[in-house]
Amino acid sequence: MSFTLAIVGRPNVGKSTLFNRLVGKRLALVDDQPGVTRDLREGEARLGDLRFTVIDTAGLEEANDDSLQGRMRRLTERAVDIADFCLFMIDARAGVTSTDRMFAEILRKKSAHVLLAANKGEGRAADDGVMEAYELGLGEPLRLSAEHGEGMGDLLAELIPLV
Ligand code: GDP
Ligand code: MG
Repeated sequence: MSFTLAIVGRPNVGKSTLFNRLVGKRLALVDDQPGVTRDLREGEARLGDLRFTVIDTAGLEEANDDSLQGRMRRLTERAVDIADFCLFMIDARAGVTSTDRMFAEILRKKSAHVLLAANKGEGRAADDGVMEAYELGLGEPLRLSAEHGEGMGDLLAELIPLV
């Protein structure tokens, strides 16, 4: 079965780093694809034996007249509508922020199937943030380091039963 995973979360938590790790150089050109705007980057991911489509909510960092919050909300809702599953990412070093709580609420309201990831999880500086992630009520956080490639086996193990 093929499926689509959207990576969502506030800016700077490491979404694009994970996207790039999953996709490598197999980045799809999204401009011509119906339903996907240039604010959503889509690529073909490989993780273990799994092949799936991954969506990165890019464009959040671009300067825009809109408020960042409104923009985040719209992009996230669109990604959730397109995707089968969401990976909601927080920055474990920063801990849970009010923006993270807002995202968690959107995902709960949409009844999206959510995997919770506490990224930047390498080293002890992330320990407290990983524990805080439980309070989001989205289940057990996956401790990842997108930059260092840690936790990819755990991500694979969470995805396999879903597909
Ligand atoms: P995005 O805005 O959510 O797409 O975040 P980016 O992928 O652009 O990453 C934001 C910053 O966090 C960059 O400087 C990354 O190098 C850094 N980063 C991403 N993943 C990790 C990680 O696992 N550990 C650490 N320490 N930094 C990371
Ligand atoms: Mg990004």
